[in-house]
Amino acid sequence: MNPNTTHAIEVLKADSSKISSVDFENLVFGNIFTDHMLSCDFRNGAWEKPIIKPYEPMLLDPSAKVFHYGQAIFEGMKAYKDDNDEVWLFRPEQNLERFNKSAVRLAMPEVPDDLFLEGMKQLIDLERDWVKKGKGNTLYIRPFMIAIGTGVVAAPSTQYRFMIILSPAKSYYSGEVKVIIAEHFSRAANGGIGAAKAAGNYSAQFYPTKLANEKGFQQIIWTDDATHTKLEEAGTMNVFFRINDTLYTAPTSERILDGVTRKSLIQLARSLDIKVEERSVLVTELVDAQKDGSLKEVFGAGTAAVVNPIVGFSYADMYYELPKLENSFAAMLKEKLTDIQYKIDSDPFGWTV
Ligand code: PMP
Repeated sequence: MNPNTTHAIEVLKADSSKISSVDFENLVFGNIFTDHMLSCDFRNGAWEKPIIKPYEPMLLDPSAKVFHYGQAIFEGMKAYKDDNDEVWLFRPEQNLERFNKSAVRLAMPEVPDDLFLEGMKQLIDLERDWVKKGKGNTLYIRPFMIAIGTGVVAAPSTQYRFMIILSPAKSYYSGEVKVIIAEHFSRAANGGIGAAKAAGNYSAQFYPTKLANEKGFQQIIWTDDATHTKLEEAGTMNVFFRINDTLYTAPTSERILDGVTRKSLIQLARSLDIKVEERSVLVTELVDAQKDGSLKEVFGAGTAAVVNPIVGFSYADMYYELPKLENSFAAMLKEKLTDIQYKIDSDPFGWTV
């Protein structure tokens, strides 16, 4: 944690709200933003006064380093409203910690704890009406930092902008998810930036994912770059495999993002006496388990969809369909986790803030 304190936040309110023009029943994920945003610049070695101001486009120099060298990081989290109109965050300190780890890896300055956490709370407080009640309704929170210093020299910037923008979202359902197991392309390598939430990690996945989409698959399950034999994670999700009644998920590493949903599901599952092993599952193990019927479920875990069941996977030009289960761990864990997030159930872990 970075204990620096920042200046008080200046608040510049929008003259009017666009909320009445938003169709909250038919939201497309990540397309609409609330009335305000938080912005704070880092210059001359220090964070300047943060400001919450009307959401608007911004002017940047064409030579800003973010455009050329991709010095950019982000986080993804959500706010939830309970039946008493209270708004809750889920483990925000985990996102702060991960954000600053990403910052260090991308040679960017760490963001002070209170700028991230208090800034976020103050911004959300102003936008309370944008958080709708009812399970499935959320306010998606996107903190990010970009290099705004100028000059087309491949060296770290000396100037940065930290921002938070908010987007109302309905429960994210991406339809049936079929995945391809990566045999050639890689998402991350040892010593690389896979464990950071760096912009470039995502753009680098677009092309292989486009090829997968053309074959009728929505996502790729990445494998380790050295041998392509160990199953790692998907686009924006960690992945769980249920073989018989044990859940397996890859251990976090330099190549894998330390997902908040992943770690919460592991704790939750263990509290329900479900056995969870954090170890690499081999592609051959998965195929064998599918063939002998012991593979029950595969699902992705991440903030956007919480839990996303995978209906089938392709490997070495063979397609394997997963069984349809009555008592799925994925559905049960999703229910339990969202009950905690929406304060429907008690929160024995102290995760909600
Ligand atoms: N892996 C990657 C690569 C991701 O981008 C995400 C989304 N942040 C996740 C896993 C899941 O992380 P979380 O549960 O914290 O959203």
